[in-house]
Amino acid sequence: MTTFHDLGLSKTIVDTLTTLGFEKATPIQEKAIPLVMEGSDLIGLAQTGTGKTAAFGLPMIEKLLADTRRPDPRNIRALILAPTRELVNQIADNLRDFVKKTPLRVVTVVGGASINKQSEMLSRGTDILVATPGRLLDLVNRKAVTLTQARYLVLDEADQMLDLGFIHDLRKISKMVPKNRQTLLFSATMPKLIGELAGEYLVNPKKVEVTPPGKAADKVEQYVHHVPGKDQKAQILRKTLTDNPDGLSLVFSRTKHGAEKLMKHLDHIGFKAASIHGNKSQGQRERALKAFRDGEIRVLVATDVAARGIDIPGVTHVYNYDLPEVPDAYVHRIGRTARNGRDGIAIAFCTPDEAHLLRDIEKLMGIQITVASGEAPAVITAGPGGKSRKPRSGSGHRASQGRAGQRPARKPFGEGAQADGGAPAAGKRAHGNRPPQKQGERQNRNHGAGNGQGRPNQSGKPRRSEGQRREQA
Ligand code: AMP
Repeated sequence: MTTFHDLGLSKTIVDTLTTLGFEKATPIQEKAIPLVMEGSDLIGLAQTGTGKTAAFGLPMIEKLLADTRRPDPRNIRALILAPTRELVNQIADNLRDFVKKTPLRVVTVVGGASINKQSEMLSRGTDILVATPGRLLDLVNRKAVTLTQARYLVLDEADQMLDLGFIHDLRKISKMVPKNRQTLLFSATMPKLIGELAGEYLVNPKKVEVTPPGKAADKVEQYVHHVPGKDQKAQILRKTLTDNPDGLSLVFSRTKHGAEKLMKHLDHIGFKAASIHGNKSQGQRERALKAFRDGEIRVLVATDVAARGIDIPGVTHVYNYDLPEVPDAYVHRIGRTARNGRDGIAIAFCTPDEAHLLRDIEKLMGIQITVASGEAPAVITAGPGGKSRKPRSGSGHRASQGRAGQRPARKPFGEGAQADGGAPAAGKRAHGNRPPQKQGERQNRNHGAGNGQGRPNQSGKPRRSEGQRREQA
């Protein structure tokens, strides 16, 4: 067991970590902390849930503490970029815990919150700024902040930032941070464009890679209901929610409008629900997540803004109410359940219109998802440990057979594959029960489709551009 003391962290920080219950380092922390401490640029192939925030945050904090210079007003010393407001807040919450006993200041800037307030927060110098790229550029353009004193740049969930179309923003921002900085890039997957970005902006980077403990995806039971239309989706959802009164259910909708409509419908039929999507203010999004995290509401309807990174340990069910347009999103969505050693069920609905999307998902994952009968699959609760599985006795539906592994095709992933916030790394998929995929193919799926030209996918249906997807979510 490697302790944080062994990794060279100071007593102040080690003591803080002890109060937080961090006794030993996770694998990514063990590998990354010494490299960041010695000043290397770093590429980390790791996902949320592996302890990566501490892996980059702790050594960065130590280095900021070792240099006692204070940042000038409207200047920052370290910049962390993340794709969504929720991730920015999650990272900042973690860092604030770590710097509790130090003079360091952590500030967040995200879209959807008051830009004037953020400008005011930045008027004093900031040690660590955690930001979404778009809002940061707005603030830079207003001269509310300059990045010329920043010595550390972290790009977190880099693949999702590219998926969301932030590439130009990232390039602009990278050019604003001085060249003598230390750059750390974390990504769940390694598509070609990430490699190119790393080649442009990192200097002799060291690479570290971890698989999340227990390979979360292996633990998610997956089912699909083939339904003739939307009405049946609502009926089955209602039945499953009724059968799982103690569950915590995350329901994914493809559009903001759809999410809002479904949330209202659920509320109307007696399920306390909230929604989270791009049309909600930051405050609304935070309140909804907190209520869900605390179990005050048991159903959260979301677009893909909540598909990655969000760490809510008690989620028992993930519903793909609408199948995602991009198959990787399915893997990210289902990675919201079966976290930290718990059980989890993923239930997808598929109308005839969506059959091509299901095919894309099954091809990507190299599995055939168990077809559920009209009845709801097994019941699990979100109680302590979330493990109290109650198989529905005598139901005899195929769903409960899936767990026993009777369908050989059900093995969800190849070796090293990951669902916890990310699809498997391209190079690792080759071990699965499907042929290896060339990086270029994956690139097309993730990014080529984002050229706004609506290139057809394998089923001949036009894909939506990144911009359109971002707008919908
Ligand atoms: P992350 O991958 O950074 O989002 O971390 C996932 C969760 O693990 C967070 O709730 C962290 O507070 C927690 N965590 C990170 N490192 C450790 C550790 N060494 N010991 C215990 N908990 C940890």
